[in-house]
Amino acid sequence: MKFPGSLHSKLPKVGTTIFSVMSGLARETGAVNLSQGFPDFNIPERLVELTHSYMKRGFNQYSPMQGVIALREKLAEKVEELYTAKYNPETEITVTAGATQAIYTAISAFVNEGDEVIIFEPAYDCYVPAIEVHGGKPCFVQMNLAGDLIDWEKVKRLVNQRTRMIIINTPHNPSGRVMSAGDMLKLQKLTDGTDIIILSDEVYEHIIFDGMEHQSVARYPKLAERSIIVSSFGKTYHNTGWKMGHVMAPEELMKEFRKVHQFNVFSVNTPAQHALAEFLDDRDHYLELGAFYQQKRDTFNRLLQGSNFKIRPSEGTYFQLLDYSSISDEKDTDYAIRLTKEVGVASIPVSVFYNQKNADKFLRFCFAKEDETLEKAAEKLVKL
Ligand code: PMP
Ligand code: GLN
Repeated sequence: MKFPGSLHSKLPKVGTTIFSVMSGLARETGAVNLSQGFPDFNIPERLVELTHSYMKRGFNQYSPMQGVIALREKLAEKVEELYTAKYNPETEITVTAGATQAIYTAISAFVNEGDEVIIFEPAYDCYVPAIEVHGGKPCFVQMNLAGDLIDWEKVKRLVNQRTRMIIINTPHNPSGRVMSAGDMLKLQKLTDGTDIIILSDEVYEHIIFDGMEHQSVARYPKLAERSIIVSSFGKTYHNTGWKMGHVMAPEELMKEFRKVHQFNVFSVNTPAQHALAEFLDDRDHYLELGAFYQQKRDTFNRLLQGSNFKIRPSEGTYFQLLDYSSISDEKDTDYAIRLTKEVGVASIPVSVFYNQKNADKFLRFCFAKEDETLEKAAEKLVKL
């Protein structure tokens, strides 16, 4: 069928996301799929049982728009315990359909036509389209993946009257780098006395390695009062397909967030919220998640020893960047496709996370996989 009129795309440059493209290609070719970020192992059995039991007990209708209160209360306790921050579960926490919806809703609620939003590149792919669809203007700062991550002087030069929002993401997808306490203090100083809202994408908050501590904006009261924190249960509980997340923000910001949230999703999966509320009592699950994934990172890196890929430091997330410059000088998008089709390992080319041209020869590999999957992939990669 063909639309009979003329279309005026709101996102003329946007195609299908790289995650759909690479996972699709991996399926088609039977390649080991280390591209899209998701675990290939199952979620904890008790979480399945809890969800099942809530479904059987009839918790199957709309939840309150803000989310099930039992879950919001557990989240408030958790953030207080981890980061000594107080969020009122009634007015300052909302359960969302994953982090993507949370990010889209936050941008929709606060970014107006002509507003500028500062973004650090490489940047996770859902920020820019959400800004542009609302008539906002993304302003990019390149990160230094090999050293001090962010040049705050550069950021300062970009800030002006039109700057409405700064989006940060730590631990960072796709680089696996993390922001330091020093970064947070500089951000605090930079935004002090302004109307800037910080959108803090902390979906990998528990996946951080080598004894480092996650620098949540919630730890910094002067930052927290202007921040919307975005979290995803998908990363923490290995259930990316549930599309469950939550946001925390001061009441005034949350009021505006909810005005949009109630019309773009209203509320999210009820039995899953009840099950997660109960499962949150298992503190060990999230406190040990860093060690769990650190072991996977180390296994993958050990298996790659002696290969021609250069391993970049991964300080958090479940991603590993590999530099393939001593194997090929192809563009990363071409090389990722060839690697999938001819070698049988799917990855994500990092240049797709840049707005500007980027000549780095990095591919991103997801190590949230069974050891056998990592072994299968590494066996192919070490031959190159
Ligand atoms: N932000 C980042 C940095 C992510 O990596 C992801 C997903 N991998 C999301 C947001 C979206 O999370 P969700 O699947 O909960 O929508
Ligand atoms: N965030 C996941 C990644 O970085 C993918 C999420 C998605 O497919 N939208 O791979």
